[in-house]
Amino acid sequence: MLWLLGRVAVGAPRLTTWRETRAAFEKLEATYGNGATADSAQYPFWTLHATDALWEIKDAHRIAPLPGRRRPTISVLDQVNPEAGFTPAVYAMLTGDLGLVANAAATLLARFFNPVPVGLVAAVGLDGVVPAGREADLMLPIPGFVAFPKRTAIHAELGGQWTSGIGTLDDGLMCVFSDAKGPYDDQSIPGTDLIEYRGQGLNGDQTLKGGGNAQLLVCQQEQKPIRYWHQPAGGDWGFDTWTVIVDRRLVWGKGEDKQWRREFAWVLAPVPSPFRDQWPQSVLERLAQDDQQTHDETFETEAPTAVTKQDAGRQYRKLCASVERKESLNHGRTTRTASDRYFRSADARIAVMLRAQGMCEKPDCGGQPADVTDRGDAILEVDHVDERAAQGRDHPANMIALCPNCHAIKTRGSTRRDLKRKLKTLAERLHREAEAWENVL
Ligand SMILES: [Zn+2]
Repeated sequence: MLWLLGRVAVGAPRLTTWRETRAAFEKLEATYGNGATADSAQYPFWTLHATDALWEIKDAHRIAPLPGRRRPTISVLDQVNPEAGFTPAVYAMLTGDLGLVANAAATLLARFFNPVPVGLVAAVGLDGVVPAGREADLMLPIPGFVAFPKRTAIHAELGGQWTSGIGTLDDGLMCVFSDAKGPYDDQSIPGTDLIEYRGQGLNGDQTLKGGGNAQLLVCQQEQKPIRYWHQPAGGDWGFDTWTVIVDRRLVWGKGEDKQWRREFAWVLAPVPSPFRDQWPQSVLERLAQDDQQTHDETFETEAPTAVTKQDAGRQYRKLCASVERKESLNHGRTTRTASDRYFRSADARIAVMLRAQGMCEKPDCGGQPADVTDRGDAILEVDHVDERAAQGRDHPANMIALCPNCHAIKTRGSTRRDLKRKLKTLAERLHREAEAWENVL
């Protein structure tokens, strides 16, 4: 397909012959073939013809495969040497818009030749329309420049499905879709540039067999680029950034039935381009450190099942103990390892949600929404009082659950400095109180 697009780019005639196609294919295959698909020219030549809309073969009836065969044999093709090419409509569309040629070529490169092998683009005649290093700019959509009111609108323009959180668009590249639900509304991991994406599976423990999690597992193993789509509360869907999976964790989360279960937390690193050779060194290091194992953070604690304040207190202390164990493991360590290159404990966040008991923790809060999320959680955001980036602890004593209004005051309000000082004392006090909940009857 790249060779065919290259022919359009250099102004070659619409039709070519089987023999010319075969010779070009075999030469390219020998140099750039990646073993991903069948290595015989008859496969693309015949299969492209499967729908008449894209590719036509003259006198196709003369080379039709024998009954029970999927493709004509090479000897029949050699003998008849049919002419073939893009259909007149497709050829006119491509020659009339070389931007479309560039877009298609860059997308094929991202999907099948990543990083782009040196010399390939020139070898297929595409160097005039796909300048080296510019491939990502030619792909649509461009991150940060699209807004869709609904998933169905994305589907209408870019294909793919419109219900699942994980899946490909029509260009075959993987996407994850994240909407603003749950305690962290943007799913960014505080104090890092990483994004956490919760896996697929409505109820019960999630698995890696089948469905979206299985697709993401392949992306992690093959370090494939993934489009990260996000819909902020009340806003439009946007394609925020390209990402790549750098870690996979298992954490506690609530299913649609509001029962606690084990969920996959896929850790995504934003990258400026889908092309691996344009990824920053820090991301390549994370990828090199990824041992591809599931890092289970649920084995140390039971599922949070608090019903009374005594249970809540017991659970709270257990979660805090787990957080502190991890803190001591990481204490004083200066090398960057898989466990401390970023560190946010799911346990710390769950503990704070438990402590908040569904209410914004700011004492004079006046604006908490009465509604709950689809998962049945209060609409709260768990925030670090001293930011992680400023060496703040990832511990409930330094964390607070705030409603979106109070959270906005803490980040953007004119009183934020004063508020932060108060919240610091408050978080410490609430932490001590929750730890003592056992004594409450
Ligand atoms: Zn509030």
